[in-house]
Amino acid sequence: MKKEMKKDLAIAVDLGATNLRVGVVSKNGKILKQFITETPKIKNQPSFLIKTIIVLINSILESYDKKRILGIGVAVPSPIDSKKGEMTSPPNLPYKKVAIVKPLKKYFSLPVFLSNDCSAAVLAEKYFGAGRKSSNFIYLTISSGIGSGIIADNHLLSGHNNSTGEVGHFIVDTIYNLPCQCQKGYGHWEAYCSGNNMPIFLKTWLKSEKIKNNYAVKTSKDIFDLAKNKDKNILNFLKQIGKINDARGVSNIIVAYNPEKIIMGGSVVLNNQAFIIPEIKKNIDKFLSPPKIIISPLKENACLLGAATLVFFK
Ligand SMILES: [Zn+2]
Repeated sequence: MKKEMKKDLAIAVDLGATNLRVGVVSKNGKILKQFITETPKIKNQPSFLIKTIIVLINSILESYDKKRILGIGVAVPSPIDSKKGEMTSPPNLPYKKVAIVKPLKKYFSLPVFLSNDCSAAVLAEKYFGAGRKSSNFIYLTISSGIGSGIIADNHLLSGHNNSTGEVGHFIVDTIYNLPCQCQKGYGHWEAYCSGNNMPIFLKTWLKSEKIKNNYAVKTSKDIFDLAKNKDKNILNFLKQIGKINDARGVSNIIVAYNPEKIIMGGSVVLNNQAFIIPEIKKNIDKFLSPPKIIISPLKENACLLGAATLVFFK
């Protein structure tokens, strides 16, 4: 008689504002295979996004027997409605409501779990990363946007609408008053220090400092490239970023949650640690004893592995 196959794998979907990754992950946190593509962004047409996710999952299932799959975990850059299994008003994607759980469940007949990407990532740190021995820690990402996941007293904080940890929308400035992409307010952290918005803040800052803007800066990478070439104005700008923004945001996190560690991830941090981490350490308030501020050992895989933890540990 044929032995029944053991269910030991999870399909993980990391839906980022820039890239969409789908992988198959083992119980000990190994990514066995993955596919990556640009995140589809056709305004108000999320059906193409769902179709793309289905295509990528099917590509995985060509090499892994579906009988081994426990379920599908999806991490999204957005608040979620966990009852309906939808992402709601993702600030960096051109959609309002997107049903995720229902269409995937229907197509694959597998359990589907949905989470905000930072809540997923902090779980990945808890099970596979730098949070394994800690009961109080934060995962903080600075990438296209800024967000956090919070483990407090060994529990994942989720909040009334599963929307805790949206620290990118902390108010950190009342001088430049930049509008946030969320369209819900001004002076939000994300409007200054996220990868998407740093170039906009640079323009405003140069103007206020009366520095002629001769810079052809389109992305945050352009800004860090200029800093690596020791451009004086840009280095001063990054000090400003460190002082009034990253450190203010991080200081607020520390007094709100009293973490033992802040584990940092996201492409802006991972690619530019030397320009970001020392400035934060230098500028944080010391009302509480400062936590350890470290780089995620899971690096760019934190959200994908987090999506897998939704399947394995929920
Ligand atoms: Zn905002």
